[in-house]
Amino acid sequence: MKTDKTKNTKRKKEGKGNGCPLYKKCGGCQLQNMNYEEQLSFKQVKCIKALGKFGHVEEIIGMDNPVHYRNKVQAAFKNVNGKVISGVYQSASHRIVPVTECLLEDEFADEIIVFVRKLLPQFRLNAYNEDTGRGFLRHVLVRRGFSSGEVMVVLVTGTELFPKKKEFLGALLKAFPEITTVVQNVNNSKTSMVLGKKEFVLYGNGYIEDTLCSCKFRISPRSFYQINPVQTEILYKTAIDFAALKKSDRVLDAYCGTGTIGIVAAKSSGAKVVGVELNSDAVSDAVFNARENNVENAEFYCADAGRFMVEAAAQGEKFNAVFMDPPRAGSDLNFLKSIVKTAPERVVYVSCSVETLERDLLFLSKNGYRVKKIQPVDMFPHTNHVECVVLLSRKK
Ligand code: SAH
Repeated sequence: MKTDKTKNTKRKKEGKGNGCPLYKKCGGCQLQNMNYEEQLSFKQVKCIKALGKFGHVEEIIGMDNPVHYRNKVQAAFKNVNGKVISGVYQSASHRIVPVTECLLEDEFADEIIVFVRKLLPQFRLNAYNEDTGRGFLRHVLVRRGFSSGEVMVVLVTGTELFPKKKEFLGALLKAFPEITTVVQNVNNSKTSMVLGKKEFVLYGNGYIEDTLCSCKFRISPRSFYQINPVQTEILYKTAIDFAALKKSDRVLDAYCGTGTIGIVAAKSSGAKVVGVELNSDAVSDAVFNARENNVENAEFYCADAGRFMVEAAAQGEKFNAVFMDPPRAGSDLNFLKSIVKTAPERVVYVSCSVETLERDLLFLSKNGYRVKKIQPVDMFPHTNHVECVVLLSRKK
């Protein structure tokens, strides 16, 4: 698979601050004081500082149109002076900054959230109060399949009881017939996690499907799904290109989510893929997704990736290539040590944190691996987050 690099030069120049009135209050767009070209340079320097010691850092792949890229929008709800407000939490706090539109978020999702907020008083429903544990609506999460157009609305409530549920749902669907599924998620715990464990499908099938790299994926409310689909295709193509898979290869897709990387890789190369993921909903999605895409050469396990690899190493398992795409905290010693033990020829590390990537690359480069390629991809324009794909190969 080949990756087309977007020319960073032809991109439209955004004005500084991008005119967002909430820029300072919200804190979500740390780099809005720079135009997009400056943001890319800033991220390039950040990558070189952390990763330059391992080898050449390729030019970051930016977006042509770096706005409204977020396919997942989440809003918190609160009662303030007898009124319900909705928006995002100010960074490192539970103070809500009221948001009605956002430069990063899908505009349709924003419209739905504003509508839900206005609908609440009509049904005498209020927002949940985190201190007293009383009240109804805690969060609304909207996910939109950019290529399928499917829309999922998750109403996160503090109680299971949903007064006038049918009527509420009717009003929502009448205003937005494009919504394909509505889920009620109950979260009555004292937690900063958005989603609780209990779920009721109120309308549709309870998930959305979307297409990435010509494969179709089912995504359930609690499964991880990359939030920038345009850049995700570039990210996955880069990762799969780096792995240079052969049909005879045995491949591990670690931290596999709904199986996206592994399924695209299995389909395009014919290699045998084993996926491992901690979230059981995501693993069910991955199994379903392999079947949906007629991929018979991929299997998925629900386990901690580190423990899974320790066992695999003890059993003398061999992989020719490993994809690893851990959360921001990076991988762990169990996993990294087992990589060294099982000695795959190629490791493709997809990371959303240069700090933990640097730490993990240090370990691997001291233990038999050499960094061959480093490709940053801008998955999160206007924020200070950087995604990188790194190819390592075993020293001969
Ligand atoms: N590769 C996937 C998911 C990447 S996000 C994609 O591109 O969509 C990281 C994933 O790691 C999440 O799905 C998360 O649930 C999972 N995860 C977090 N800790 C884990 C662990 N210790 N072992 C296995 N998976 C883990």
